[in-house]
Amino acid sequence: MALVYLNGEYLPLEEAKVPVLDRGFIFGDGVYEVIPVYNRRPFRLSEHLRRLQHSLDGIRLANPHREAEWAERIGRIVAAAETEDQGVYLQVTRGPAPRDHAFPNAVQPTVFIMSNPLSTPPRAAVEQGVAAVTAVDNRWLRCDIKAIALLPNVLLRQLAVDAGCAETVLLRDGFLTEGAASNIFAVRDGVILAPPKSNLMLPGITYDVVLEIAQAKGFAHEVRQVSEAELRGADEIWQTSSTKEVTAVVRLDGQPVGTGKPGPVFWRMHAAYQDYKQTVMRAAS
Ligand code: PMP
Repeated sequence: MALVYLNGEYLPLEEAKVPVLDRGFIFGDGVYEVIPVYNRRPFRLSEHLRRLQHSLDGIRLANPHREAEWAERIGRIVAAAETEDQGVYLQVTRGPAPRDHAFPNAVQPTVFIMSNPLSTPPRAAVEQGVAAVTAVDNRWLRCDIKAIALLPNVLLRQLAVDAGCAETVLLRDGFLTEGAASNIFAVRDGVILAPPKSNLMLPGITYDVVLEIAQAKGFAHEVRQVSEAELRGADEIWQTSSTKEVTAVVRLDGQPVGTGKPGPVFWRMHAAYQDYKQTVMRAAS
């Protein structure tokens, strides 16, 4: 039977309850991770747990578990889930306390883990690409923290939904940062351009995979800032995330990107990514 983990207990989702004064509920005071699981094997678990540690450090919350403890808890949730491929969601908040902005003393953090079937991009999204809109990146200056306080991302993503699009591509001070829920790459003259990791974007695990594949397979690529003009004039734009994998953005603000179809570099990367998924991700330990 599918189970979730909450503060030391394994129980059905319906039975998992959190006090209303939990600081996650009151302040959005917590961080999270999403870990793709292939064949019941969490992909890059150590990297996800390192990113979790970075997020916890960023909000000055002690990690409630060591890596082996996380692995054990995640493993039990994965084992109890129905599907082989899953998306594990885990969240740590600063716990329940009387409402006051200041950190509470000696409060147990709330730890929650659940798993859902892994969603992957629909065939049509891969073959035809997706549309996106742009917006000013008006989030805070710690976008490298995977904070549960996602209201800015929610509002930005909704701009895409309202326009019948798949994603909102964010620009800060005239440069590409990322998507509302993905990392964004551009391709110009055959060269893959990736914004460098900084406090202005989430360091995506899929972003790393794409750059590693580019390196290993000899795709021309540069990690550097991408201006708005370069983005708008790009031959190809891609979005990446654990669930979107690599998907081509073929329309931006109603204008075609390049030919308006997924481009040749996308298809090469898509093939390499799928190959990597079958051989490495599915065999990851
Ligand atoms: N940026 C943002 C804002 C995200 O929410 C996500 C994940 N949904 C990503 C990038 C991609 O991260 P990953 O490749 O680890 O899924």
